[in-house]
Amino acid sequence: MINKDVISLSTKEFLGNLKNFFDKYFGDDAQKKIDLMEYLPEDKWLEIKKQGLLAPFLPAEYGGRTPSQKELLEVLRLAGHYGVPVTLRTGIEGALVIQPLTKYAKKELIEKVLPFIFEGEGGGLAITEPDSSGSAIAKEMLSYYEFLENGNIYIKAKKYWQGNSQSDFLLVAAKEKKGEKMEKSINLLFVPRKNIKFTPIKSEGLKAVRYAVNEIEGEIPAENLILLSEVPRKNLREFQDLFIRSRLQFIGMTHGIIENVHNNVTKYIRNKIDFIMHELHEIDSRRAVSKVLYDFVCKTVSPDKPVNDKLMEANIVKAVASEYAYEAARIAQKLMGAKGYESGHPISNIVLDIRPFTIFEGPNDMLFAEVFDQFSKTSIEEKNNGITLNKGMTIYERFISDSRFVFENGKESLKAVSENIYNFINIYKLSDINPVKKVFAGKILSKLFVLGRIHNDAYTEKFLVREINKDILDFNY
Ligand SMILES: Cc1cc2nc3c(=O)[nH]c(=O)nc-3n(C[C@H](O)[C@H](O)[C@H](O)COP(=O)(O)OP(=O)(O)OC[C@H]3O[C@@H](n4cnc5c(N)ncnc54)[C@H](O)[C@@H]3O)c2cc1C
Repeated sequence: MINKDVISLSTKEFLGNLKNFFDKYFGDDAQKKIDLMEYLPEDKWLEIKKQGLLAPFLPAEYGGRTPSQKELLEVLRLAGHYGVPVTLRTGIEGALVIQPLTKYAKKELIEKVLPFIFEGEGGGLAITEPDSSGSAIAKEMLSYYEFLENGNIYIKAKKYWQGNSQSDFLLVAAKEKKGEKMEKSINLLFVPRKNIKFTPIKSEGLKAVRYAVNEIEGEIPAENLILLSEVPRKNLREFQDLFIRSRLQFIGMTHGIIENVHNNVTKYIRNKIDFIMHELHEIDSRRAVSKVLYDFVCKTVSPDKPVNDKLMEANIVKAVASEYAYEAARIAQKLMGAKGYESGHPISNIVLDIRPFTIFEGPNDMLFAEVFDQFSKTSIEEKNNGITLNKGMTIYERFISDSRFVFENGKESLKAVSENIYNFINIYKLSDINPVKKVFAGKILSKLFVLGRIHNDAYTEKFLVREINKDILDFNY
């Protein structure tokens, strides 16, 4: 399915080979450059997949490469240099399809599904429904399946906005129905194209990724069920794990895109007046924050190790990375003047395509609110050590006690970095924060998480202090 020669290459050679194929189809000098504002020609995409594009996501026992988080992120980053849809398709097929499939499905099903990915058009992950809120996924999900007397499964689901809709299959999230009762836990089902009626969604951008309303109904073999856990009460935790991993890996896509923005803006800028240089610096500061998050994920995550202890970190990575990639793209578009409004200009394409990164995999406002929730609860490590938290603590007291936040010279040094931020987090108790303030508190904490991880970079530190002060203004408004 994958060219065997690429599996034994060193990471450098492996990435170099992929780069040649990306250059061939998406590079500036490509002879027949693919228009990424249209559907992606599946035969060309398949050719790149055969060169191992998805091999870092695939366990070695199924023909993938030796697990390496750095290599996996480098593939997403490289793909981001060629366009938002290029990295998003890689992310969908790798993180939303191959990783859950190979982690949770039985061997026979994995072996049945992989050829669809490596010899066909692949598939997508179907979670969001038009009739329930996407951000309250687990509670409100309406899709269900039930076991039939003949041993098969009947599934009924209405999903929308799935990346890779209209391709060979969807992994559909649904609850089991027993009689009239819907279980709370969620599992995945492999549903082939023949059971899906799709109505394409006319998206503003990301046409190369193909979106649709997917109506799924019919009988499928029981072997198509992918149980997220044999123990029903653990299913929801596994379902959450799936998001934790993909939100952490998200940084590979956004970091590649923010670098793409930087490369393009420096290439097209004609006037080097002072204010333009100032705005370029704004883009670069966001790129520097993104790099901190990129390095954090490379160092602390591994494709073959659990990530269930990293919910707060995953929400920070996803929300900050997408917010800054979007902002950087918008600044770049402005700097292009009229050119930035031309349809098909690389920067205007990026601005159009990057916006939903702030929406999917959990809208950022919700994620920032959750960051505060996770910060004000005991972490898994604390729970294991029997530590409990007092809601009467100030944010500062909690910040000092939480080992997920680090500071180069000790967390007390925050006062020297910014007295204003230090004073602010000393005023409020965890119990003072209402649902609206939670979103801003989450933003402040997310940036503090990055601030403490900056080494010898006074510019980025200054940038983040300013950003946090803006969030404090919003909080106090
Ligand atoms: C381009 C694109 C690709 C997508 N890809 C997929 C895919 O591959 N598979 C899939 O299943 N789905 C996909 N989706 C769907 C996506 O995951 C959902 O749109 C997303 O989870 C948000 O759900 P919603 O649209 O129902 O918004 P809602 O949940 O209605 O949220 C709308 C807004 O309400 C606010 N809000 C909601 N909850 C909170 C909260 N708790 N705290 C503060 N504010 C809040 C936020 O401002 C949020 O932006 C995609 C969507 C897009 C646009």
